Amino acid sequence: MKPAIGLIPLWDDEKQSLWMLPGYADALAQAGALPVTLPLTSSEEDLRQIATSIDGLLLTGGHDVSPRYYGEAPLPQCGTPCPARDQMELALIPLMLQQHKSILGICRGIQMLNVALGGTLYQDLNVQHPSAVPHRMQPPYDRAIHQVRILPGTKLQSILGLTEMGVNSYHHQAVHQLAPSLQASALSPDGLVEAVEHPTERFVLAVQWHPEFRYKTDAPSQLLFRAFVTACQ
Ligand code: MN
Repeated sequence: MKPAIGLIPLWDDEKQSLWMLPGYADALAQAGALPVTLPLTSSEEDLRQIATSIDGLLLTGGHDVSPRYYGEAPLPQCGTPCPARDQMELALIPLMLQQHKSILGICRGIQMLNVALGGTLYQDLNVQHPSAVPHRMQPPYDRAIHQVRILPGTKLQSILGLTEMGVNSYHHQAVHQLAPSLQASALSPDGLVEAVEHPTERFVLAVQWHPEFRYKTDAPSQLLFRAFVTACQ
């Protein structure tokens, strides 16, 4: 049996509708998993069943996490939150960790994982961490736009076998104070945490970049998805 990996659904405010970018599911399928888009729910009972049923969890990109969850008032530059996703992910992440199941976070996913474990975010990089590094690139998104340094001795480095690599980048928020149980696994040239990992879990890892836009041709993106799916087996 292929490992079943739950995807947090995306939410379209205008259409008041769930949706999914095909890249997340296709990248997981290419790496040997059965991707399963989850219902958007904050029911404790349903989330317990979901956490028991799936072999791994993909925290997808999307809305800014509400700053209330890291004890801050929103800046004007902070995006509109998605309360249903915030509630679901904040409840589901601890349930997955209790069962030592694997988690891969992407973009919002690294931010949500950090907040769920007690860290904080930059609400807007332009205001709070201005730099010349282009973190919010223009399309097409399947190309590298800035470098990251992959930190020695991390799981990420052992997965990718690289000390530095180019990544795409489409974010205006980022990890600020790292959660106590996470460690940084990659840094951008302006010192932002661009990847994190849980040092003692088998695979609880998240990246600020978007491997789901590059998995078709980019070896590091493929290695990351494959390592995640293998850990879910
Ligand atoms: Mn970036």
